[in-house]
Amino acid sequence: MTLSTPLRALFGLLFLSLGTAAWPAPPEPAATDPAPAHHRDGRYQNNYLDFTPPGLLKLMRWRWDATRAGLPRPPQTPTPVVAPGLAFLRANATAGAAMVPAATWIGHATVLVQMGGLNVLTDPIFSERASPLSWAGPQRAQPPGLALADLPRIDAVLVSHDHYDHCDLPSLKALAAQAGGPPLFLVPLGLKALLEDAGVSNVVELDWWQGHTLRGVDIVMTPVQHWSARGLADRLRTLWGGWALFAPDFHLFFAGDTGYSPDFADIHARFAPRQREGGFDLALLPVGAYAPRWFMKDQHVNPEEAVRIHRDLAARRSLGIHWGTFELTDEPLDEPPRALAAARRSLGAADDAFVLTAIGQTLRLPRRGESPNTGQ
Ligand code: ZN
Ligand code: ZN
Repeated sequence: MTLSTPLRALFGLLFLSLGTAAWPAPPEPAATDPAPAHHRDGRYQNNYLDFTPPGLLKLMRWRWDATRAGLPRPPQTPTPVVAPGLAFLRANATAGAAMVPAATWIGHATVLVQMGGLNVLTDPIFSERASPLSWAGPQRAQPPGLALADLPRIDAVLVSHDHYDHCDLPSLKALAAQAGGPPLFLVPLGLKALLEDAGVSNVVELDWWQGHTLRGVDIVMTPVQHWSARGLADRLRTLWGGWALFAPDFHLFFAGDTGYSPDFADIHARFAPRQREGGFDLALLPVGAYAPRWFMKDQHVNPEEAVRIHRDLAARRSLGIHWGTFELTDEPLDEPPRALAAARRSLGAADDAFVLTAIGQTLRLPRRGESPNTGQ
């Protein structure tokens, strides 16, 4: 242990340094007049917290404490996996106006969302590791619930921020090469250059509250509380955010990574006029990578805070993501389901209001205005 602790800490530094060397610095944020409050001298900041990216001492303290305590402990039960319903997904993919709103958890923050006639992928990562390196860094506990080759043609890819577990260039490149032409890649400000330098085209970058319409579906980027960096030199240089999607018959919110903040009440208030019948039909909210709280609280919610976000958004239903796939933090990989159940009980949320699925499972959802009808 005395040997492995400094080695693990050193690996963390190496991991970050290599990230710096591997990718070019992103461009300065686009100049606007007047500059929005979250644009700060070529970097970005949160609405409700001036985030200081963890320095080396803080990073080493976390790694040292965790290694000495033997954290994370190995999971007692593997993350559940089911075979995907490929026949349904493929038929639904081309159903046009008859498309059934559906969300299929592929693993981590990667979800295939079918809504409004579109096939949308969130934060796709199909690689073995969430890392700048193919041979080191956090490794998957389970294979993707849908293989890249089994995906329907993807219309849009939503990227929430540049961390390696959310912005996986090999996966983005593979999607750009899909049959029938690349999907539309929607990314936060500053990330277009990273994708284009990797050979990925058809990229649109947006600021908070900016939107893009794709075949009648409005896609709007929203603030969340997080940060960005792929190395030591580019911290806070590109933006981060969540995504709100509005099809005539379904409204979706995807949070990416976030700490708990008043941003979600703001999002609800901002979109309330177009959501007269209620809030989002489905929110994809992170429920993993939250321990230890002293290190993670500002940037990652725990399940209780995720339930608070679910409430702030007035979501009809939420699906927990960002758990059970990559061991990134100190809680065991199988703790989020127990912690989420406890959070639902303590906050009085119904069991079917905020659910988890197996990797590969498809949640079929009612259209706006339809009565709830839990699918598969
Ligand atoms: Zn992140
Ligand atoms: Zn993450």
